[in-house]
Amino acid sequence: MKKIIIAIDGHSSSGKSTMAKDLAEAIGYTYIDTGAMYRAVACHAMKNDLANEDTINEEKLRAALADICIEFRPNPGTGRRETWLNGINVESAIRNIEVSSLASRIATLGFVRRHLVAMQQEMGRDKGIVMDGRDVGTVIFPSAELKIFVTASPEIRARRRLEELTAQGGNATYEAVLADVNRRDRLDSTRAESPLRQASDALLLDNSTMSRAEQQKWLLTHYYNAALQ
Ligand code: C5P
Repeated sequence: MKKIIIAIDGHSSSGKSTMAKDLAEAIGYTYIDTGAMYRAVACHAMKNDLANEDTINEEKLRAALADICIEFRPNPGTGRRETWLNGINVESAIRNIEVSSLASRIATLGFVRRHLVAMQQEMGRDKGIVMDGRDVGTVIFPSAELKIFVTASPEIRARRRLEELTAQGGNATYEAVLADVNRRDRLDSTRAESPLRQASDALLLDNSTMSRAEQQKWLLTHYYNAALQ
């Protein structure tokens, strides 16, 4: 079977990352979480006072990009790759609602996108990857052999996200999470730079009523079809 690129794009909290990780593990591919890279940039901006709730200091952020080192290192216990920012494990620090909100604002900036897209293209140079995000099938790898666009209703996505945040010890409310999901959808789909959209050759997966196992089966079928071609 040939090594391919699997691009999984879709709405916030649609379960893309979980399904992308499951698929990568099942087929021995490398999983790359592009959202974590925007989150890491947001985390760096927060730590260094380059942004607040209203404004982003674009000039300083542009200069800071050269100092931001993002790596995915395997966790020795689970084997799953985690996000490291300048030598520090930020895998859980980047998952809170403040970082999510800033990441989607930072993701509207063309200079940040160009910087991260170049890194992402380099990471997928040898193929054999499952990459998830918003622009994988449209901008990063427009000729990916398999493209999936994942969605579910905003209410279902907010419930899933709330469960995740609560499990991590957070105390967000359903209303706050739903508002954040809707706000991020709006920002992602209406931004001028690489807006979120389904590539014309992407398969649509609405997982509102699908279990994790059903999604995995659906994905594996399409993976075998694409890799055997
Ligand atoms: O996927 P995740 O929710 O972790 O991504 C965090 C934010 O980064 C998203 O809200 C989205 O605005 C942005 N993003 C993006 N392009 C990507 C991945 C994420 O604009 N390829």
